[in-house]
Amino acid sequence: DDKKLYSPRVMKYILDKYGFKFSKSLGQNFLIDGNIINKIAETAELDENSGVLEIGPGFGTLTQILCGKAKKVVAVEVDKSLIEVHKETLNFDNLKIIYDDFMKVDVNKLIEEEFKGLDVKIVANLPYYITTPIIMKILEEGYKVSKIVVMVQKEVAQRLNSKPGSKEYGAITLAVQYRADTNIAIIVPNTVFMPRPKVDSAVIEFNILNAPKIKVNDEKLMFDIIKASFGQRRKTLLNGLSNNLKIPKETVKTALENSNIDPGIRGENLGLEEFGKISDEISKILD
Ligand code: SAM
Repeated sequence: DDKKLYSPRVMKYILDKYGFKFSKSLGQNFLIDGNIINKIAETAELDENSGVLEIGPGFGTLTQILCGKAKKVVAVEVDKSLIEVHKETLNFDNLKIIYDDFMKVDVNKLIEEEFKGLDVKIVANLPYYITTPIIMKILEEGYKVSKIVVMVQKEVAQRLNSKPGSKEYGAITLAVQYRADTNIAIIVPNTVFMPRPKVDSAVIEFNILNAPKIKVNDEKLMFDIIKASFGQRRKTLLNGLSNNLKIPKETVKTALENSNIDPGIRGENLGLEEFGKISDEISKILD
């Protein structure tokens, strides 16, 4: 079954046949550009040893290409009105589709059951209304995956890939950088989707590290500190941390001095290493 699903005419014809209506609230913007789809698959570096978890297959244009390159694909789609469509568009022996909300799926269990012995990668053109929660779920639940390749809103990709001191830099940047090296593979214009979203997009890859980028005594404390120091951007680190974490100013001051960090600096100018140091110094004092 070799028809190219990304042809807009094929897509329109099949979707009309099943009376499918695009849902804006589910973030349904389907890819109609073969070059972009191939570029996503290339970035994922798939071979006969790969297992792919796809989030939101939609019409199946990307899924079709993934099935041709990987050993096995498991796709999670929340919209049950696509079931009939998939019977026509996605006839692959190495594909399993789960009709459920990705946020509710036990992904660690899924990976263990479906991808034994395979090198697992997550590949998706993400629904934009839920991009951040999906990425945070993936990072926090610590799946055994080597790579994540996702299409997101351009601004989100830039934030995840940003450096200390830039205006996009935030707590989520650090959550990502702790576990992965990131790279923006391509910036994508809105013309490659049906229907067209208002914003431009980008494909970002996360190469998951074998161990977190830095060693820290208390991971949770470090992320609390990171959140606290970005919570009140206008405040100095000293005030931000003591207010938000309810730690005495003196303690914070001593910890910053011991880490050789200027208490007047703002959190958005610090990198992961420095947050690690502060966290270790604070935990030493609080112990
Ligand atoms: N992969 C297709 C493509 O590239 O053409 C569709 C991408 S579209 C941007 C996002 C897809 O995610 C839609 O099919 C939508 O129904 C699905 N989706 C939205 N929310 C979801 C959720 N919570 N869990 C799983 N799939 C979801």
